Amino acid sequence: MLGFTHPACLEHDTGAGHPECPERLGAVLEAVHEAFPDLEWIEAPRATRGQLLRVHDPELLASVLSAPLLGTTRLDPDTAVSPGSPEAALRAVGAGIAATEAVLHGETDVAFCAVRPPGHHATRDAAMGFCLFDNIAVAAAHALDRFGLARVAIVDFDVHHGNGTQAIFDHEPRVLYLSSHQSDLYPWTGAGNERGAGNIVNALLPAGAGSEAFRRAWQEILLPALDAFGPQLLLISAGFDGDRRDPLAQLALGPDDFGWLTGELSRLAARHAQGRIVSMLEGGYDLHALREGSVAHVAALLAGDPTDRAAAAPR
Ligand SMILES: [Zn+2]
Repeated sequence: MLGFTHPACLEHDTGAGHPECPERLGAVLEAVHEAFPDLEWIEAPRATRGQLLRVHDPELLASVLSAPLLGTTRLDPDTAVSPGSPEAALRAVGAGIAATEAVLHGETDVAFCAVRPPGHHATRDAAMGFCLFDNIAVAAAHALDRFGLARVAIVDFDVHHGNGTQAIFDHEPRVLYLSSHQSDLYPWTGAGNERGAGNIVNALLPAGAGSEAFRRAWQEILLPALDAFGPQLLLISAGFDGDRRDPLAQLALGPDDFGWLTGELSRLAARHAQGRIVSMLEGGYDLHALREGSVAHVAALLAGDPTDRAAAAPR
């Protein structure tokens, strides 16, 4: 397993009091470093313009990359850019590209990208919901175009629906998009009847739902769809805002739930995808929940990676 990150991701300044703050990534990196000191980290390269243009319009590139010289400006009511944002956004996307290449070239089976800004709300032409570019969508498009894969799955367990990822691929049968998310919550998309070209599966959970409902949705709806699809590569939008402590949502999940799902995904990846998984950090706004959730997630990724040199158990 390899970790991918870049210090520039800490320099995307969303303004005082914004929940998508640099401390989030600091918490994840610190917790994962502490728990898995042997995990090897790689500095993410910048995504290229050509890689971004596979899923985004040139106008979005121009607006994200022409950040202010001072202070912050808003691209939507929730989504700010600062002088450090272009570099952060390019490195966040670049992490997913580099991780996908590492996994598909056989350098590692599993990769975790600890990056921000998150990505799954960004659409083809708009930054929104704290997201500038859709990091995981660019990684999926790279796997299709550069490596010629025929089946790439994106599994999204963030508490919010990944409207951007879904919209980018809803006519692309080579990509399966699976999401569990809280109903009646931002961005108010992801209804069960949104099926795309038959390649979209959404499972909604009511406010207050906990482990049992979450695990049942995955066991009965989402994991069987993933198994039937038989992905050659599994990408994970790993958001930890389904935790009961999260201030922006109302599910009642905990770190064990994220670890459980990750274990199930590892088994599926072993069966279909030669164990190949690229996970990318999405949301999660309680720092304690983020620390514990990301450690549970990485522990399960390591446990599912038989070739890994690092110890699978947290220290
Ligand atoms: Zn979220």
